[in-house]
Amino acid sequence: MPRINNETDLEYKRRVIDIKSDSFCGAKWYNATIWLGSGQTTSCHHPLPHAIDAEEIKHNPKALHNTQKKKMEREQMQKGERPSGCEYCWKIEDIGRENISDRVYKTVIYTDKDLETAYAKPASNDVDLRTLEIAFDRTCNFGCSYCNPAFSSTWVKDIDTNGPFTGLTSDGRNHFTHSHGSSQLYKFGEYNPYVEAFFKWWETDLHRSLLELRLTGGEPLMSGDTWKLLEWFKNNDNRVNPDMRFAMNSNLGAKDDLIDRLIEASHSLKHFHLYTSNESMSQQSEYIRDGLVWDTWANNVEKVLTNGRIEGFHMMCTINALCLDSLDSFLDCCLNWKREYGKDFPTFSLNILRFPSFQSPLVLPDDIRNTYKLKLQAWFNANKNDPMLHQFELNQLQRLIDYLDVVKTPHMGAAEQSVLQQDFKKFFTQYDQRRGKNFIETFPSLVEWYNSI
Ligand code: SF4
Repeated sequence: MPRINNETDLEYKRRVIDIKSDSFCGAKWYNATIWLGSGQTTSCHHPLPHAIDAEEIKHNPKALHNTQKKKMEREQMQKGERPSGCEYCWKIEDIGRENISDRVYKTVIYTDKDLETAYAKPASNDVDLRTLEIAFDRTCNFGCSYCNPAFSSTWVKDIDTNGPFTGLTSDGRNHFTHSHGSSQLYKFGEYNPYVEAFFKWWETDLHRSLLELRLTGGEPLMSGDTWKLLEWFKNNDNRVNPDMRFAMNSNLGAKDDLIDRLIEASHSLKHFHLYTSNESMSQQSEYIRDGLVWDTWANNVEKVLTNGRIEGFHMMCTINALCLDSLDSFLDCCLNWKREYGKDFPTFSLNILRFPSFQSPLVLPDDIRNTYKLKLQAWFNANKNDPMLHQFELNQLQRLIDYLDVVKTPHMGAAEQSVLQQDFKKFFTQYDQRRGKNFIETFPSLVEWYNSI
């Protein structure tokens, strides 16, 4: 294992990273997110995505990840210079000399040998990835309120049909005013050179080098390329790296035949981890995650857990202003599934939404936020000794309770609360009209406040 003798983050950093340079990060060599629909990539989720050269990948598919930009940044890191796109890490490190930034956590997952190879190789060399997140396209049957057209074709349809959302002053990046054509350069069924390059690289090297492959979207079950890849696994059992973890994010709202195909395909995968998302109950979840039908979704969860070959099942909860009304009941629901299927089925994570900032929990007035905090505290107290809960799940819940208690002002880069509240009302008024929904009926405990905005 990469750490020796239970060394601390700082000890690891000194032993493995600092002896190379002051700015070395393994993610620049071995990790990537690649959006094949838009032809873009980044090393981790902090630096902004950049374009992949469509000509270069025709003769060298490895340039999907080994772009000229990343090669320049690797050279900088070998010399101890700081690539500007990694500002997130430099800011943390500049707070104090011994501060541990993400580059330590994103380096420690690779072997010392791989890291030495990366550091010693000329920066102009191509490297094969170890961990990869990939999106084939943005086709998705859901149009969740906190998503946008860059990631969902349902959102594109809404904007194309109904025009832009109007009057939102805090949407500085204009997520809801246009259909983000640059996120999907090719139409459905059209030749896409990035997808072609991916399958070439997959066939020659990637299937051997990867320790983790994660499919995201859109909704991966709606992409023909997902099924092409799953077919490859079925037909090439003896060629797959036996340790490779194959993960997929799915909204589990696809039609029955696709869910059945996924279950069948899971039996050809050695280490399959399924991630799905939800954070509230029944009609509230149908409101927030437009396209979701609660009974279908809950049935699909049980169907994949009963019939699939799944090593890990993960519930990603996006904590927004609306889900707090029924989050405690939703956690009960997760706990019931754990009792039926086992402690890891599902595990849950509580990821606090920051953008769009007018849907963040911080938009709520103090009294409502406090009521929700007390509900969660009561759930925590009642369940903290339940053996089905992991410590990290309790930690996340405690962190959310603290956040609701302490954080009073909007995040850096967000507008002030009164502006966010105005946008909240403007957004959901239009959302109701466009999507045939009814805020007032769905969230009775928010009505008085909502009407007062
Ligand atoms: S240095 Fe930080 S921002 Fe840059 S790739 Fe590594 S983890 Fe990501």
